Formats: sequence, structure tokens, C-alpha cells
Amino acid sequence: MRGALIISLDFELFWGVHPIKTPAEYGAAVLGTRVALPGILQLFREYDIRATFATVGALFFRNKSELIENLPQPPVRYKDPKFDWYPEYLDKEIGQSEEADPYHFAGSLVDLIVREGRHEMATHTFSHCFALEEKLTPDAFRIDLERAMQVAKQAGVQIESLVFPGNQYGEEHIRLLSQLGLRGYRGNEQGWMYEPRTWQGNHVIRRLARLFDAYVNLTGHQTYERGEPKGPAGMFNIRASRFLRPFNTALKPLDGLRLRRIKRSMTDAAMHGRVFHLWWHPHNFGTHTEQNLGFLRSILEHYRFLRDKYQFQSLTMRDCYPAENIENGAASGGLIQTTG
Ligand SMILES: [Zn+2]
Repeated sequence: MRGALIISLDFELFWGVHPIKTPAEYGAAVLGTRVALPGILQLFREYDIRATFATVGALFFRNKSELIENLPQPPVRYKDPKFDWYPEYLDKEIGQSEEADPYHFAGSLVDLIVREGRHEMATHTFSHCFALEEKLTPDAFRIDLERAMQVAKQAGVQIESLVFPGNQYGEEHIRLLSQLGLRGYRGNEQGWMYEPRTWQGNHVIRRLARLFDAYVNLTGHQTYERGEPKGPAGMFNIRASRFLRPFNTALKPLDGLRLRRIKRSMTDAAMHGRVFHLWWHPHNFGTHTEQNLGFLRSILEHYRFLRDKYQFQSLTMRDCYPAENIENGAASGGLIQTTG
């Protein structure tokens, strides 16, 4: 089997950061996404990359009345009110339209991605629902997710894959996915520092270990074989291999190491017919946009080299699910093998 580069992007704008950041602290990165995202799409076109955009359902809207009409019933509530976006946050912090509030609406950007015609639109729940935060029941998670899928469907998008917000999940959440007709999810990287945790449980040692792992080889290449479902309930676990960390001025001298670590893992995948799954958020490119796009270009140059040398290919998460209803249950790998 040919090796594959999978790229997934968690598209959430302010829905993913409001529990810990204010617009004053993080608004520039979120606003910068409006420049960064077209830049990312342009590079994907240039290097013939197909990516998966796991998009928060609320971002599909262009104004507050559409959002309010489509709220999950009931909206999720957490024990720690800092996670709540309903009702006070919705009332006070969310503006009337995408023009007035570019932090919480992104209908025009969703259109940009869909119009490319090459990428997979996946879900990141309706409201960036944190599955493991206290008092959040699996049922509340299901209601939020179900609404996200309906909103996408109204926009003509069929959802098959999910990325769990905050990389938080348990087996009961994965079982829900199969009940809702999804086919796969992005599991976390392997290693103790990547195990699903609440915000609170994500202490500094774990975060530091993940930071080191981006520069030096702590946890291996994290590449793997594509094929049968590896998650519960027949769900395909298209596991993450590496988070593409954003450019950081203080760590600039180490950027060569960061790039080398990614390129070596890609080479490992290409040579051994395995998957390397890289992920980040479009807003990670919202500041230092030029440096981040330049770094991505270096990664994609290496992809092109591996494609020519080892027939390395670019796939979405969905491309990794076998075609359904194959007669006689023939050929797993489905879509992938037929395009190979
Ligand atoms: Zn997220």
C-alpha cells in the first residue's frame, strides 16, 4: 500500500478559545485567519493536497439570527461556567453578523473551503463541545454533535469524520459517532502526554513534553498502517501523528529541528507505506502568517519529493474509509486503492 500524508485542520475561530482567552489577548490570531486560510488553500492547490477541515458547526452561519434559530436544544452547559457560551456569552459577546463579529461567524470562509471542491468537510461539533469537562453528559454531547451534522447537511455537506474538541473523548463518545452515522475520528497521538484529558488535567508537565516532542524524537514517528477500523464500534481511528506548532519567535533558532522531525516522519511513512497525519488550526497561522506559510511550504516541498520518489499520496480522513456496500465484502482500503 502506498504511504499517505493526511492533513486535518480544526477550524473553530473563537469557539475553541473563549474559555481561556479574551479577544484582546487572542483576537489578532483569529482575525488573521482571514488572511491565513486563503494562503493555506492556495498552497494546497499548488501542491495538490486534499485536506480535512473539522469545522465548528456555528461557524457555518453569517449572522446571529441564523445561529439562534439553529441552536442545539438544549445548548450544552458545563459545571465550570467559563466553558459556557449559553446564554450569557451568546447574549453579550456574540455580535450580529460575520462583518460585525468575525470571531464567531465564518460562513464566507466555509464557502471558500467548500468551493475548492477537493477537501473534506468534517465536524468539530456545533459549539466546540468539550466531551470530558465536568457535568457534560454524553447525551448533551450527542445533541450538540447532531445539530452540527444537520447544519452541515443544510449547507449541502455530508459529514463522515469528526475531530474531538480539545482532543477530549472516551469510548462512550466514539460509540455515539457510530449511532449518528459517522465513520471515523482523529484519535490522539500515542504516549502518556497525549492521552485525552480535561483542561484542568492538562498540566504543565504534559504540555512541556508535547512541546519537546515537536523538536526531538520523544515518541517516535507516530506513523501507522491504514486499514481496518482501530476504534470502538467499527469507527475508523485516523490517528494524529503530529501537531504542527505555530511559529514562535523565541523558538525560531530551533525551527530546523522542528522541520526535520516532521520530514523524517513523513519519509518513514512514505518508505514503509504508512500514514503520517499532521494537524493544526487555521488560526495558528493567524499571526506570523508569512513564516507559518513558509514553513508549510517546506513541508509540502518534501511531500512532493516523496510523492515522486515513493508515490506518497495526499488523502483526506474520509479517503481512508473503504467504500461502503462493496459486493462480496471485497477489497478493504476501497477508495484509496482505486485511486492508487
Ligand atoms: Zn478545537
